Amino acid sequence: MLNQLTISGLTARLARREVSAREATQACLDQIQRVDGKIHAFISHDAADALAQADAADREIAAGVNKPLLGVPIAIKDVLAVKGQPLNCGSRILGNFISPYDATAIEKLKAAGAVVFGRLNMDEFAMGSSTENSAFGITRNPWDTARIPGGSSGGSAAAVVADECIASLGTDTGGSVRQPAALCGCVGLKPTYGRVSRYGLVAYASSLDQIGPCTKDVRDSATLLGVLSGHDLRDSTSVPQPVPDYAKALTGDIRGLKLGLPKEYMIGGLDAEVKAAVDAAMKKFTELGAEVVEISLPHTDYAIATYYIIATAEASANLARFDGIRYCARVDGNDPIELYARTRGAGFGPEVKRRIILGTYVLSSGYYDAYYLRAQKVRTLIRNDFLKAFETVDAIVTPTTPTAAFKVGEKADDPLQMYLSDIFTISCNLAGICGVSVPCGFTKTPKLPIGLQLLGRPFGEEALLKIAHAYEQATPWHKEKAAF
Ligand code: GLN
Repeated sequence: MLNQLTISGLTARLARREVSAREATQACLDQIQRVDGKIHAFISHDAADALAQADAADREIAAGVNKPLLGVPIAIKDVLAVKGQPLNCGSRILGNFISPYDATAIEKLKAAGAVVFGRLNMDEFAMGSSTENSAFGITRNPWDTARIPGGSSGGSAAAVVADECIASLGTDTGGSVRQPAALCGCVGLKPTYGRVSRYGLVAYASSLDQIGPCTKDVRDSATLLGVLSGHDLRDSTSVPQPVPDYAKALTGDIRGLKLGLPKEYMIGGLDAEVKAAVDAAMKKFTELGAEVVEISLPHTDYAIATYYIIATAEASANLARFDGIRYCARVDGNDPIELYARTRGAGFGPEVKRRIILGTYVLSSGYYDAYYLRAQKVRTLIRNDFLKAFETVDAIVTPTTPTAAFKVGEKADDPLQMYLSDIFTISCNLAGICGVSVPCGFTKTPKLPIGLQLLGRPFGEEALLKIAHAYEQATPWHKEKAAF
């Protein structure tokens, strides 16, 4: 079925004119019809608009135009602005807001010929690890619909794994692309901070947020990263580094590379089957000619606390703009303060409120030095741990998550337990480095995907993708399909 294809598989068939972009897009739309009632990866999608884009792509293909994503249906997390489409961030507060412009990442997808469609479900304002914090209902894991798909980009990972799109975009502030990719069984990449422009991405924590692709294999991740990357004058934190041809790095040859296994990550709370899968992956790397050594990231213990101070502080400032005056579903009051309070009280869900309160507290006078300033200092120590490790190793290997997907509702009432599911992913954002999750096995009963995380040097995506690709090609995991 066309909707099951990868980007490389589909573009090859489109180039040979064996299929049309309309047929591929229709296959994705049909699959949404068939399965999204169970999965609920999409908040909404505009089928007519997707088909019109596909027809335009078919005309270009007929005219011999060559673009990297020409005619490829790619679905979008509901936090990225797509001109003329709804933008809700999984929240009630934006009401019926329609984006007046395209995010840079979306502009780039469109310029590359993609069929950009759909609004993928997510935790409200990307705050969460399970996609249970959405005002639009829960997304389900395609491997077991009683379980969560991870979050906050749960819709992005579930849609790819359920073959409702060819690939998708998510965002990763503390693991939100890698963690759902691990729990649903696809490839999720968080680029280096500054690699991809954040213009048109609704900010959660601006110093941590990056846009990243969810894909069916590593080659597709390399293709999408190549399209998305680059300097953008509209995002001053995007970096003017040349964009390599990432696909060129996928040689399959990782002989002589050195991989570090941080001893602080093989902790209590790590599920035995996850540990066994990671141990087996290490063996595979050795077979492939890489060397695996133990390393230390001594400040790992402070990562969660540091993250939840910095992320909430930035969120409290970023979310101040949702005030009912400039936009939002306004709830009127007798004076501006009452209007703000009513609008925000009705519009934000409980997790978002918790974080705004926490973030406001850590920034308040008298507490700023004790919490926010100290967290910034610890953040530097965490980054230095990684930079030091990269003096001796080419990449770091860890589990992506401590356990496989948990049940819907299992951690919903315990924010701290929920926060702990990001224990292996958040340091990467604090350090500003790049990371990718690839499938590395399954639990037995029930059968649920397990993810392996690779972390790389700042702007070291080529090496990262090379290692991930070599591992993927030497293992069967990415070929398995969920039956649902
Ligand atoms: N789960 C983490 C949080 O809730 C990370 C979310 C993300 O990466 N957007 O903040």
